Amino acid sequence: MTDIRKGTALVTGASSGIGAVYAERLAQRGYDLVLVARNQERLDTLASRISLDTQRNVEVLAADLANAAQLAQVERKLREDASITLLVNNAGIGTHTGVLESDVERMAEMIALNITALTRLTYAAVPGFVARQQGALINVSSVVSLAPELLNGVYGGSKAYVTAFTHSLHKELAGQGIQVQAVLPGATATEFWQIGGLPLENLDASTVMTASDLVEGALQDFDAGVLVSIPAMHDLQHYQRYESSRQALLGNLSSNQLAPRYSTK
Ligand code: NAP
Repeated sequence: MTDIRKGTALVTGASSGIGAVYAERLAQRGYDLVLVARNQERLDTLASRISLDTQRNVEVLAADLANAAQLAQVERKLREDASITLLVNNAGIGTHTGVLESDVERMAEMIALNITALTRLTYAAVPGFVARQQGALINVSSVVSLAPELLNGVYGGSKAYVTAFTHSLHKELAGQGIQVQAVLPGATATEFWQIGGLPLENLDASTVMTASDLVEGALQDFDAGVLVSIPAMHDLQHYQRYESSRQALLGNLSSNQLAPRYSTK
């Protein structure tokens, strides 16, 4: 039975890694779950374990979110199931390869999943959240949204979109009782690296966090209302200075006068 204080969390990319940990932690916190990913067998196994451990109601919705028709089924679920109070947009793929080595079809698939699916699912969920004056969105971005030079540029760009979109949603929805958060993991020990073609063994172990620790930090930040959660950043002043500078730009981005550094004809 749904805990009316929590409701149901729909978690994308729940079949492994960060999404699977979110599913488990959210059920422990009293959420019922809808688990979304392509691998039905993995989702079923996880759903059985979580419902046994937590007594929560766990539904599985197998879908390829890069496929428009299957994505539409998940959008419909978000529009029609009024018990859903939390959307965790976590499903994502990435790689480290440069523009000359990357297959553009794979890049387009990355954009479809990391950007288009996240956007459509958000647009499906938000009207209901606003109508009910209750709801939350957690968008799993990446630290490369701040440093797109580090891995593949399309991946970094897709995550910059996720962080930027989350800033905008926060501004639009905060007054409507909707909590929004962008989570920026650093390197995290999941299948992401193997799938992206750079197995974890290639990384300096001191830079790699467990998915458990990552989600623990992000959920503590969620509880504290933190908009941008960066669990691997020890000295948060680095980000705070960056964000203050960004905020300071806002009043200086448009003018009817060409900046004086240019010569006029
Ligand atoms: P992961 O273990 O590979 O998990 C990715 C999840 O997304 C899986 O459940 C996968 O399930 C699902 N998925 C992939 N393609 C999909 C599709 N077309 N449709 C539906 N679901 C799909 O990697 P992870 O590290 O947990 O990644 C989760 C998020 O964290 C991603 O957005 C990633 O960009 C972000 N992130 C990861 C790291 C890191 O170092 N690991 C760092 C920063 C950000 P199926 O294969 O069953 O579909």
